[in-house]
Amino acid sequence: MPTKVLNVRTPSHTTFINITREVKAFVEETEIKEGLCVVYVPHTTAAVFINEGADPDVVKDIAYKLNQLVEWDDPNYRHMEGNSAAHIKSAIIGNSRVIPIVDGKLVLGTWEAIFLAEFDGPRTRKVIVQVIGEK
Ligand code: ZN
Repeated sequence: MPTKVLNVRTPSHTTFINITREVKAFVEETEIKEGLCVVYVPHTTAAVFINEGADPDVVKDIAYKLNQLVEWDDPNYRHMEGNSAAHIKSAIIGNSRVIPIVDGKLVLGTWEAIFLAEFDGPRTRKVIVQVIGEK
């Protein structure tokens, strides 16, 4: 099963990085025509999601509202590492997405892009991309 590991440097504390180009390139490289592509992050303070990539203000608004909903400092957090807000945001968004492959291409809407979400950067994150299907 074709698998690729992307190493992505996240430059700031909360940031969303568009990884669509890298995922698409790998899917094309596999020459799989019909199948599924899984994009997964093995990190507890990061996430993967799909949303609008055309207007960069969309993901800025998502970050703004998530930060407002899940405040960084809360005296009732128990986790000693001090980054509970990042774990909570990771749990809400989720650590993977599955995208269909039809005619050798990822089925993404016109405005859709795949994002790695960083909630406790800067760090270097691994993104696992795995493709299953038929050539
Ligand atoms: Zn922690």
